[in-house]
Amino acid sequence: MHVCCWGTPCSRLAWQVQCEPELHGSCQPLLSAATLRVNTQPCPASTSTATSTHACMQALVKGQRLIVDLSFEDKMTDAELKSLCQQLAYCYSANARSSKPMHLIFTGVQGRMKECINKQCSGFDNWIATKSEATYLVHFKEETEQLVYLTADSENEIQELDPSKIYIVGGIVDRNRYKNLCAGKAEEEGIATAKLPIGDYVALSSSSVMCTNHVVEIMIRQQELGDWRAAFEAVIPTRKRKAGDTSDAVPEDNIPAVKEEPCAPASAPAPQKQKKDKAAVKGAAATKPRKETASVGK
Ligand code: SAH
Repeated sequence: MHVCCWGTPCSRLAWQVQCEPELHGSCQPLLSAATLRVNTQPCPASTSTATSTHACMQALVKGQRLIVDLSFEDKMTDAELKSLCQQLAYCYSANARSSKPMHLIFTGVQGRMKECINKQCSGFDNWIATKSEATYLVHFKEETEQLVYLTADSENEIQELDPSKIYIVGGIVDRNRYKNLCAGKAEEEGIATAKLPIGDYVALSSSSVMCTNHVVEIMIRQQELGDWRAAFEAVIPTRKRKAGDTSDAVPEDNIPAVKEEPCAPASAPAPQKQKKDKAAVKGAAATKPRKETASVGK
């Protein structure tokens, strides 16, 4: 039976979240009117939505932290910004569907970026994620040593996911015109960098620079499966892979320039079915999430 998110074993979480009556209406009588108290009885609600909400809320407290750095609004055209916001919805949807979701943290949510997110990402305010107007340097000022910026331009390769680290993915759609943007930023800020170990597992027919939602999805899959090859195969579109070769890395110099392509989520069906998938994204993004409290920031 499903155990309610404010009951055992998640009592720690119980003090950090607020009950949302629509989702756990049947649990309402078990709550005191003014305060949230720990309830050790099983929740009568048992739906997959509730289960995924439960997992996402747990991730807010103890999940692997993954920042999406949204500080690049001045580097994108309106169309690119819109495309990025669509990718953010894919990221959230992929995480919500994962059996082992991450703690997603959106930093730099302000100005034009915020406006666009509110337009494109249905229910963003209620996403079970951390959202901050501040930069990650401010938000994590006590833990800057734990920050690792993921960038294809790094010389380091990420091997295992380290739960003590806070990984950062750049939230930008730039048609590859800003070379070294994120690596340069991280270097200026004194933050560690790492690239995905794509070349060790998959041979690509084009650049190893992935779009934001693909990198987020790869990280989610890696955490779920503990297997980079499976994670890459699940997410990297076949058109980006070199036919018949899955072992040798493609030298950067031989890679043709990347054309901007819509970054559909890993599970995206053929184009004619995309409407359905979009609906799924919308649905997942609006899975009756709860409001995060101020204390659930890290
Ligand atoms: N010109 C940008 C590219 C943006 S791609 C840049 O300078 O990085 C969107 C984001 O995905 C990047 O900011 C980076 O965080 C991440 N990313 C893309 N490909 C990656 C790879 N191979 N390894 C690690 N991170 C990658």
